[in-house]
Amino acid sequence: MKTTRRDFIKISTASAGGIAMTSPVINWMSNGKNDESELDEHKMKRYPTYCEVCFWKCAGWTYTNAEGKIKKIAGNSNDPHSNGRFCPRGTGGVGMYYDEDRLKTPLIRTGKPGSQTFREASWEEALDYIARGMQKIEKEHGPDCMALFTHGSGGKFLGHMLKAFGSNNIAAPSYAQCRGPREVAFFATYGSGVGSPEPTDIRDTKCLVLIGSHIGENMHNGQVQEMSDAIDKGATIITVDPRYSTAASKSKYWLPIKPATDIALLLAWTHVIIYEELYDKKYVEKYTFGFDELKEHVKNYTPEWAYGITTIKPDVIRKTAKEMANASPAVIVHPGRHVTWYGDDTQRLRAVAILNALLGSWGRRGGFYNPEGIHLPKFPAPKYPKIKRTWRDAFPGKYVLADLALASGMCDATIPTLDRDCSIKGWIVNGTNLISTLPDMQNTLTAISHLELLVVIDTMPMEITGYADVVLPECTYLERYDMLRTSKHRFPTIALRMPASEPLYNSKPDWWIAKELGNRLGLQDYFKYNDITELLDWQLKQVGSSLKEMQRIGVKKLNREFDDLYFQENEDVEFNTPTGKIELYSTDLEGEGFDPMPKYTAHPEPQEGFYRLIYGRAPMHTFSRTANNPNLTDLMDENTVWINPKVAKEWYLENNQYIWLQNQDGVVSTFPIKVRITERIRWDSVYMVHGFGHSNKKLSRAHGRGASDSELITNVMLDPIMGGTGMRGNFVTFLTEEPVRKEVKS
Ligand code: SF4
Repeated sequence: MKTTRRDFIKISTASAGGIAMTSPVINWMSNGKNDESELDEHKMKRYPTYCEVCFWKCAGWTYTNAEGKIKKIAGNSNDPHSNGRFCPRGTGGVGMYYDEDRLKTPLIRTGKPGSQTFREASWEEALDYIARGMQKIEKEHGPDCMALFTHGSGGKFLGHMLKAFGSNNIAAPSYAQCRGPREVAFFATYGSGVGSPEPTDIRDTKCLVLIGSHIGENMHNGQVQEMSDAIDKGATIITVDPRYSTAASKSKYWLPIKPATDIALLLAWTHVIIYEELYDKKYVEKYTFGFDELKEHVKNYTPEWAYGITTIKPDVIRKTAKEMANASPAVIVHPGRHVTWYGDDTQRLRAVAILNALLGSWGRRGGFYNPEGIHLPKFPAPKYPKIKRTWRDAFPGKYVLADLALASGMCDATIPTLDRDCSIKGWIVNGTNLISTLPDMQNTLTAISHLELLVVIDTMPMEITGYADVVLPECTYLERYDMLRTSKHRFPTIALRMPASEPLYNSKPDWWIAKELGNRLGLQDYFKYNDITELLDWQLKQVGSSLKEMQRIGVKKLNREFDDLYFQENEDVEFNTPTGKIELYSTDLEGEGFDPMPKYTAHPEPQEGFYRLIYGRAPMHTFSRTANNPNLTDLMDENTVWINPKVAKEWYLENNQYIWLQNQDGVVSTFPIKVRITERIRWDSVYMVHGFGHSNKKLSRAHGRGASDSELITNVMLDPIMGGTGMRGNFVTFLTEEPVRKEVKS
């Protein structure tokens, strides 16, 4: 049956409608006349914002009623990230503001770490406590023994404070635990990373290849909208996934690949495209380096060779390769986003980058466009002090190609060893629940046990909060200003986030926390503004706008100043690589002692009775960040484990039965998970949505709902090139009775 755009869009609008119908917070939206009139945008006040529910950062408007209560969020039609529409999660962002489980006031620990025994404190007392702790670490070990883990817009201010203090240990788990390998791989190939939002020209593509990338469940707004448009215009979708995902259901080809064999498929596609002369000859000749070496390298990687490894039939490999070539250059082999799977992820993403180069899609309409953003001048401040050491010193000569800090590396550098002169002693953790975002929970807990100071700044209590010495309640994105959004897109834009309401309870924005801490640490010169509005207005005036203008329009579109959106016909292009060309053969990787071209390596397989654990996303949740959101838990309040019917039969499992999962190292899920028997998953794997199974009892809706995939990920395969943490090499079996708990060795 032909898939239409409306079918695909229905995924999101149905869910959004679901929010309106069932949410306890905004259920008045469908409750009759009065409520409908209250929803009238002309009678409400609106304030510009950009969404913080995920990192697509869609710009929109927060609406308040006559009493100043936040009532809804909608997209800004001038914004290229949202095109005026929010996804279900974004629409449900109001739930973050109204969540009664929010952190409400600063807390200082009184009991043992993990015991959740705190006393309430004033902001003065809590900030003084942190400043004293940081100064003690500075005096005894050096300022570079402090670290910041952050995953939110407010982290920029805390990062500025930490750099001024004298530490450059600043990391977001989104690099080593998510998209880092693709950035390094594309940089090695094109001299440019991919970035966010990805510059994939999906709206004009004729062929989109998704490898383990489930757009639709991974609800990155603009991409989903463009994919709908592309489907509507007849684009071919090819989905490679051991699971019949939403994207697979919209695809002309679904390739249910055996997990961990994707590089074999990519090499076989490369073989067909080169040896059947399907590549873009002019493009390859003009722009690439190392074609002859690549041709020789893939000589034996035939579809027949790949069949035995991937279980994908040779004729399907050939047919899909031809589909890509027929669409060239309007074809995208999507780089994906969460790509840390098997530890050879940079090489897998190199194979993706190479395939795109052979098809001539980089810099071409329907392939990858050249994104452009705007650089805003920094508010005047002194130079940061010279940094003496960073987390990298704990790993001499390793991960040199990682262009950003590794959160897992900083965690490891916290555990003292005999040959390390200083381990990290203090953590500030902002907006990320490290207990479940970093793999190998026991390792994270070991690192925490060596800390002298742990500060958690968040809107919600999470598992990490229980280990903090001080907890600071951050206000939600709907109650604060933040840095201006300047991400690159088809044209540069600036987007403003401003408060639609005073912060609830005794919560504060990060810019205020960073400034107050800076003052206490003697860093006043780095914060020479009284209020963030002064900083934002100054920045905006440097580029011909003002805070007043941005408060009115929310998003400002600017003209492109540099390159064109696409390469011109036969244009001379200098790539930022050592050879100035697109490197099919990577001289950078070779220089660092790695394979200059990707190879296939077999990965361990599950032992009998075990199944590979695959995890992913649901359209209504963003990791554990939204697990307690009252609007979104109405749509999905627990995860299920997908099990193939053949396997379920062998284990006598039934739909909706609760079971426990036990991994290869004997770790058993704390909470049981509901069985979902479905043909949509291969027999050798199971699938669950990430972000559930919370053990923090202060999360009244999320506690004990579903199981946590994170606690079952104890086998981490490190990418030797950039330190990414491969997490798909874990296997689980099923327990139908609650097990007697044994202590697991760290
Ligand atoms: S995709 Fe959805 S959740 Fe993410 S920023 Fe946009 S509206 Fe928010």
